[in-house]
Amino acid sequence: MPPETTADLIVTGGTVVSHDGRRAQDVVVRGGRIVAMGENLNQGGIPTVDASGLLVLPGLVDMHVHLREPGMTEKEDFASGTSAAAAGGVTTVVDMPNTSPPVATAERYQQKLDLVSGKAYVDFGLYGMLDHDNADEIAGMAELGAMGFKLFMGQTTGDNRCPNDAAIFRGLEAAAAVDLVVGVHAENDHLLRMFGDRLRASGRTDPRAHLEGRPAFVEVEAVTRIVTMATEARTKLHIHHLSTSAGLRRVLELRSWGHQVSIEALIAHLFLDEDAYDTYGNLVKLNPPIRPAGDVEALWAAIGRGDVDIIATDHAPHTVAEQAEKDVWKAYGGFIGVETMLPLLLTAAARGVLSVEDIVRLCAYNPARRWSIADKGQLAPGFDADFVLVDPSTEGAVDATALHSKHNVTPYDGWPLRGSVLATYLRGQLVYEKGAVIGAPSGRQVRPAGKKATV
Ligand SMILES: [Zn+2]
Repeated sequence: MPPETTADLIVTGGTVVSHDGRRAQDVVVRGGRIVAMGENLNQGGIPTVDASGLLVLPGLVDMHVHLREPGMTEKEDFASGTSAAAAGGVTTVVDMPNTSPPVATAERYQQKLDLVSGKAYVDFGLYGMLDHDNADEIAGMAELGAMGFKLFMGQTTGDNRCPNDAAIFRGLEAAAAVDLVVGVHAENDHLLRMFGDRLRASGRTDPRAHLEGRPAFVEVEAVTRIVTMATEARTKLHIHHLSTSAGLRRVLELRSWGHQVSIEALIAHLFLDEDAYDTYGNLVKLNPPIRPAGDVEALWAAIGRGDVDIIATDHAPHTVAEQAEKDVWKAYGGFIGVETMLPLLLTAAARGVLSVEDIVRLCAYNPARRWSIADKGQLAPGFDADFVLVDPSTEGAVDATALHSKHNVTPYDGWPLRGSVLATYLRGQLVYEKGAVIGAPSGRQVRPAGKKATV
């Protein structure tokens, strides 16, 4: 029996974009999975999505979001954050553990899983925390499906304490034993505190003080230390939000010596430079900070060379009042981004800065492979039918009031866009179309498959 006769859905007439090319292909879906792809598969009699003139992309996998549950749901929660993801063409999010309380034990991991299950509009993975004294908890969290473990070498939102090197090494060994990725926020905490104290003592409260208090060598030192330790412990290491030209050079040098490490660049570090402090003030306070234009150019050049593995958002919501804080030391780091990532990248693609294939590779294919999410990141038979319909030709602008987070404060409000997300499907079900999130939350937990990552 040909697959289309028993299919649930067929997407016809579109151009399917993968990490390495594009083809005019129909996509046949059954039971939430792709069962066939090819030309002219539509023989009628089943629900049809007409994608004529549109691009069909695999749903994006955002490896770096903070949905703030538990403990900070005044900022965001799983329902609002995953609504924003669906509207942005992101069908899998991986949530960070620096909540209140932090997700640093198997018990807390289970509690978080229970708390957020049934609330998500897209699929989700949960990171555990690698904290100052929890190496014994790593295996238990892995058992419950932890995507990996986040290590904060430098201070951030939440009541987590940065571990010392011995605690880091024990955590790296424990993560290696369960073959999961450790994702690191690589800044030297002692140096950050010293520079912060110095700037505070001098009376500085302006947004640029945040940049001055986190110089590039603080990142260079931390990446050197963590890559050295992870190699010794044989841990899969991922550098979250690498932000400086010097840090990038160091990681590439370490790679050339045989250290294996994957690199993430953030949308904010690619689309904003230090001028943003003058325009947006503390709204663009971010850890690591928004950098000078030279660093931004270095990140884009690295993307062009294929040296960056992953682009993510670090979607980090705060309330409107928090985002308006004038004193840089009282302001929080981060802002929303999961809904604007794909539109901003499509706009960059329309300008020729990267290709749509690059977007798929950096935001879907590579993250799914690096974290061994077996069914995601590609449109191919056997994979989940997570896909996004994109109209590459629409011209518009970011409209903050139309976004789906709890507090829609974004520096990108009003930015011109070329290309838009028309609809998002999760395992064959429509979850977003033309401004509206559709249906009940059907997102499920994703877990790493028991296979070696290959990125
Ligand atoms: Zn983050």
